[in-house]
Amino acid sequence: MSALSELYEEIALCQQCEIAKYRTKTVPGEGAENADIMLIGEAPGWHEDQQGRPFIGPAGRYLDQLLASINLKREQVYIANVIKCRPQGNRDPLPTEIRNCRKWLERQIELIRPKMIVTLGRYSMAMFFPGKSISKIHGTTQKRDNTIYYAMYHPAAALHQQSLRQTIETDMLKIPSLLTQAESMTKAEQQPQQSSMFEV
Ligand code: URA
Repeated sequence: MSALSELYEEIALCQQCEIAKYRTKTVPGEGAENADIMLIGEAPGWHEDQQGRPFIGPAGRYLDQLLASINLKREQVYIANVIKCRPQGNRDPLPTEIRNCRKWLERQIELIRPKMIVTLGRYSMAMFFPGKSISKIHGTTQKRDNTIYYAMYHPAAALHQQSLRQTIETDMLKIPSLLTQAESMTKAEQQPQQSSMFEV
């Protein structure tokens, strides 16, 4: 069993938050275990809670279309959420839930080691770009520890607000060239450093 599958088993046993009592299934995340791109949404909705899979409702179908626009299938990326249980009535995640669940996401990131992390929506953005506003930083990156962090609107927001649709679609189209940059950044870091060993 892979380390990621073991992690999913641990997540399935988690009872740290009140919402654990009401879940049908935990929704740890899914996709390629060696994915270059990891997309992080907010929280499971009704469909995701039923099936234990992320982004499989209307927002998920739209996310699939957005990925297709850059020639990617969901199996080629890794998709997770900030929290792994569905908040009742699809309310926003609570700060305590985000804090409690953070360790799972951190372990997923450690195991997958993506070159690029794409935050989808405010809650995911807040974990990596604290204090920023999504309307200001969507479509922009931050580089840290060999990883590119890229902020985007949540696909559900774009589904409900036509004006955001063009924005999210344009932001998605920037991903391939950002990934190429991330790849060259990693390669540069893997090059043996100029050594002074032979200098006299
Ligand atoms: N919205 C999310 O943020 N995550 C899902 O898995 C589904 C909808």
